[in-house]
Amino acid sequence: MPKGYEGITHMTEVDRLRDLISEANRIVIFTGAGVSTESGIPDFRSPGGVWDRYKPIYFDDFMSSREARRETWRRKIETDKTITIAKPNRGHQSIASLISRGKASAVITQNIDGLHQVSGVPEDKVIELHGNSTYCSCLDCGCRVPLEDVLGPFRVDETLPQCPECGSEYVKTATISFGQQMPEAQMRRAQEETLAADLFIAIGSSLVVYPAAGFPIMAKQNGARLAILNREPTDLDRHADLVVNAEIGPTLGSAVGLN
Ligand code: NAD
Ligand code: ZN
Repeated sequence: MPKGYEGITHMTEVDRLRDLISEANRIVIFTGAGVSTESGIPDFRSPGGVWDRYKPIYFDDFMSSREARRETWRRKIETDKTITIAKPNRGHQSIASLISRGKASAVITQNIDGLHQVSGVPEDKVIELHGNSTYCSCLDCGCRVPLEDVLGPFRVDETLPQCPECGSEYVKTATISFGQQMPEAQMRRAQEETLAADLFIAIGSSLVVYPAAGFPIMAKQNGARLAILNREPTDLDRHADLVVNAEIGPTLGSAVGLN
């Protein structure tokens, strides 16, 4: 329990979250798939989530198997049916408001849906640890390839893309697959932000995917307070100053005073 809360029993967890936020000078927000479920994008590990339907395709399989690449694009077409129509929800908007008020310095996200940017968080304050699924890049020359240039021909006869610059067959959404190296610049920025924070709020993540889940622990070990907002318990709850098991949109909206 944070200092000063001893003996106070009538405070709700939302009140405590509001207090932690108001006492903080530099908040870092860390999000997982749970922040986007209220926008209609399923998370991974909840019932009905992505892992109920698909097994992950590892990076090595993508590289070595044309069939794995075809299956990746088939899934992309399927998941785009929700991602492309999703709008930011109250959770995203509450986070954007903490950023615009200068309360929070950055959003570190595991999400690939781009909804933090759509909700108004400036591009340079969103750190995407697992990349972004709204465009593609060539794994050989690094050039950016518009998603529709890939999906258009694939939809017709499952033609696999080739890089328009170098001809490579390794064109992939700009996301980080299991087994793929983490993006260096984003990892470094996430670490800098985490070490500069006095309050770290983990929102909508099961906190089991590493190295991403290492950041909440890093913040805590560095002396920051740690709050976890998630529908169900997480592996890191024992490290937290505050755990709120509740729905993200209403809880965060109330904690940041978003009407
Ligand atoms: P996860 O599915 O493992 O965990 C999500 C957590 O959020 C669960 O514990 C669930 O109980 C909780 N949750 C879901 N909806 C909630 C709500 N409305 N209110 C409160 N809690 C809620 O997701 P994760 O921890 O982000 O797993 C990591 C991986 O998931 C990342 O690699 C990420 O790239 C990927 N992913 C991203 C998206 C996206 O971009 N929206 C979607 C699916 C998966
Ligand atoms: Zn190329």
